[in-house]
Amino acid sequence: MRFTIPYADANPARITQGFHSEHIGLDMISRVTPWGQGVPLVAPERVKIVALSGDNYTPKNDWPLTKGFGVIMQGLESYNFHLYWHTGPVFPVKVGDIVERGKIVAYMSNSGRVYSGGKYVPIADRYTNKGTHLHWECFAKFEDGRKTGHMDPSQFIDWTLKPTYTLAEQVGAIAKTVLRLSHLMSK
Ligand SMILES: [Zn+2]
Repeated sequence: MRFTIPYADANPARITQGFHSEHIGLDMISRVTPWGQGVPLVAPERVKIVALSGDNYTPKNDWPLTKGFGVIMQGLESYNFHLYWHTGPVFPVKVGDIVERGKIVAYMSNSGRVYSGGKYVPIADRYTNKGTHLHWECFAKFEDGRKTGHMDPSQFIDWTLKPTYTLAEQVGAIAKTVLRLSHLMSK
């Protein structure tokens, strides 16, 4: 079982930080939009949405931009769990959704502890989209509850497996995100 690439223009040259002992994930950037802001991130395999950080967003009680937003997915084609981090605060999916591989689950952004040129990007500068990237973590959890350590997602990616969402699905995901945002703001 191989993973679909996480967004449209993902390729090995877009890796900005690989997996190592002090970085238990894979960092990647996009060039689809300037700095990659808002680029749709897709499920790397058929997944169930386990958790969304940022789900409790409201204007008065937001999960701070400093902590970051992300989505946790349980792989349904493997025993892997996937975390996409530094995403935008609102998602086109909800907890419990089953998402086919290659379909949109979140948007690339620069929430949380992000760096640009090795320097922490102050919150006040986030509107410049500096530090926008995907941080992807992956580990396996078996039926008996045993867990592996974090693994390097890049070793399981098939770079020829592209996102499969259509333009209509992309528009639909944006509409769901906007509706969800208006719903959360009216709470
Ligand atoms: Zn990272």
